Amino acid sequence: MTDTLLSYDAALAEFDPALGLEVHVELNTATKMFCGCPTAFGAEPNTQTCPTCLGLPGSMPVVNTVAVESAIRIGLALNCRIAEWCRFARKNYFYPDMPKNFQTSQYDEPIAFDGYMDVEVDGETHRVGIERAHMEEDTGKSLHVGGSSGRIHGADYSLVDYNRAGIPLIEIVTKPVLGTGDKAPEVARAYVGQLRELLLGLGVSDVRMEQGSLRCDVNLSLAPKGSGTLGTRTETKNVNSLRSVERAARYEVQRHAAVLAGGRRVFQETRHWHEDTGVTTSGREKSDADDYRYFPEPDLVPVAPSREWVAELRATLPEPPHERRARLQREWGFSDLEMRDTVGAGALGLVEDTITAGTPPQAARKWWLGELARRANETETEIGALGVVPTDVARVQSLVDEGTLNDQLARQVFDGLLAGEGTPDEIVAARGLAIVSDEHALSAAVDSAIAANPDVADKIRDGKVAAAGALIGAVMKEMRGQADANRVRELILERLT
Ligand SMILES: [Zn+2]
Repeated sequence: MTDTLLSYDAALAEFDPALGLEVHVELNTATKMFCGCPTAFGAEPNTQTCPTCLGLPGSMPVVNTVAVESAIRIGLALNCRIAEWCRFARKNYFYPDMPKNFQTSQYDEPIAFDGYMDVEVDGETHRVGIERAHMEEDTGKSLHVGGSSGRIHGADYSLVDYNRAGIPLIEIVTKPVLGTGDKAPEVARAYVGQLRELLLGLGVSDVRMEQGSLRCDVNLSLAPKGSGTLGTRTETKNVNSLRSVERAARYEVQRHAAVLAGGRRVFQETRHWHEDTGVTTSGREKSDADDYRYFPEPDLVPVAPSREWVAELRATLPEPPHERRARLQREWGFSDLEMRDTVGAGALGLVEDTITAGTPPQAARKWWLGELARRANETETEIGALGVVPTDVARVQSLVDEGTLNDQLARQVFDGLLAGEGTPDEIVAARGLAIVSDEHALSAAVDSAIAANPDVADKIRDGKVAAAGALIGAVMKEMRGQADANRVRELILERLT
């Protein structure tokens, strides 16, 4: 059954959206949260486990100090207050991928709370309040075999991999984000994007959404316009790309609006996001009173970070993202619009690395935001996941600067890079893309273009130099684009003026 949707504009005319974002970040510690098991991604199933993360009787957990350190640094970077004393809690529920039958998490005593992050969308700043950032452990992973959907329904049997069980997670929960109007989906995307940038800068996680080391739940509710009351919210789970964050939020705005406009009520429930069809479907009904029988974890001592330690960690924070953006804009001489586009495309780090690799700022911007952003759009891929890296772009630009490539040939090198044909130099060689600098061949092509277009040649002889464009085009076509257009122009003018 498909949902009825109201058009986005109609929805926004009637309702104010309120967003809530819950982001789970897997920390990149070498070992798990409460035991010494390794955390590397992609190992053979169940090879990175021990009695503690398998929840065997009598095993005792010990807190990973590096994970606490990362949690505090994340809290500080999000302008949070850091608890002077907090405990872990048991969140009791049964699920096959959680062998202890409880998850060790934090409940009413999070390590970090009451912060904010300023998020920029189209040059406007939206302050997103941070309710809390707390520590917990990841669950294992179930694999449902047989059936078509990969879901448990219709599967023949299920397998469980506990390698992920016990990997340290930080859950970052926003306060309700209000007042974003029709920008709500973009603010959601920008928040997750900037959070990812911040976490990357802190070096605490590899933040790969596609591998699940950063996972986002998008909560959304609508209130009648101007009423200021919060509506019933839905929670769309595990939205695994920045683009999907925006799409899922937009879809839920339109779906809620159709339900409310039809005089029905929104159910408080979890929803599943379907990347392929771009819709959410109903998951399980949820109430705020879900009772996990939380209680303080008796096997772990409280975490009581000294203020000296917190101050030391504060001193390790990198430059805050907005200051970094302002500095880079100054250094690169970008206009506000150029900077906004760069940030909006998620290309800030890519452009920075390309410039660091020796490319002039405007050239780096041109390739990433012109050529590569367009292709990312066409293939609905994140720009960073295209398979083209900053050093490739820098090499293409240096081939242009050396006169080996012109812009048109450079685009063909990008075709090759996207098709995985090797390095820029390998692609130039394999595809035979270098500019023909053989003057003899160029002169021959110029002569035959003049001979084939006598009327154009006459115009140029009469002083209409602008007409040379047609002859340059003919020569470039003849040379399959592999000529330096400026040199061709010189040769034409030498002959006709
Ligand atoms: Zn273990």
